Amino acid sequence: MRIDILCLFPEMLASPFDYSIVKRARERGLVEVVVHNIRDYSHDKHHIVDDYPYGGGPGMVLKPEPIFEATESIKERVDYSDLPIILLTPQGRLFTQQVARELALHQNIMLICGHYEGVDERVREHLVSDEVSIGDYVLSAGELAAMVVVDAVVRLIPGALGSPLSFHSDSHSNGLLEYPQYTRPKVYRGWTVPSVLLSGNHGEIARWRWQQAILRTLKRRPDLAKQGNLSAEE
Ligand code: SAM
Repeated sequence: MRIDILCLFPEMLASPFDYSIVKRARERGLVEVVVHNIRDYSHDKHHIVDDYPYGGGPGMVLKPEPIFEATESIKERVDYSDLPIILLTPQGRLFTQQVARELALHQNIMLICGHYEGVDERVREHLVSDEVSIGDYVLSAGELAAMVVVDAVVRLIPGALGSPLSFHSDSHSNGLLEYPQYTRPKVYRGWTVPSVLLSGNHGEIARWRWQQAILRTLKRRPDLAKQGNLSAEE
């Protein structure tokens, strides 16, 4: 997979992709993350990429020309005709595990990060194919949202995780939250690990975990249960 990220502050994206699973996936050649500076596509000698909003109001708006030109330059190398070009915006559809799964199926995705008051509406109308929000709050920079999207998508690429089974039980993978996890020591400050986990009985352990996942989901996120994610038995 190749992920192209268009942004104003590439330095912000330098370190998050140099650790853990994304780093390993890059090293294994499973994903290539290419960061482009929108300023490089400004024709202004001061590399200005924003301007005042028409109609007045606070803040600055990212101009359309550098964003269109950056995208067109990438399209000369990569055919994005059937691939998602995604604007990161608090006005987009909510980024969920389901959306991450959907994006992970693509060979390439492009992420456009806004800043200041956001981007000129013509980018939204005539350039992007999708708009994604990572939650109902406002960040200062699309780069932060891009980090979240890249991490959630890359861990779903086959081979990215150390254990290929680990994302099957992750929260939100099957409509449930994950069961409680414990590690050594068996007793810590008098608090003990549930005895079933020490029993060695894999059938019992699987059943306990499944029950815990259901209880946890009902208690913490009844909205998930209401979405019809639970089977009759669950
Ligand atoms: N004025 C815009 C609005 O109200 O919709 C918000 C602009 S925000 C300060 C600057 C940039 O951060 C946005 O263009 C977007 O790229 C990014 N951003 C902010 N919140 C986000 C969110 N919840 N999800 C994805 N991107 C977000």
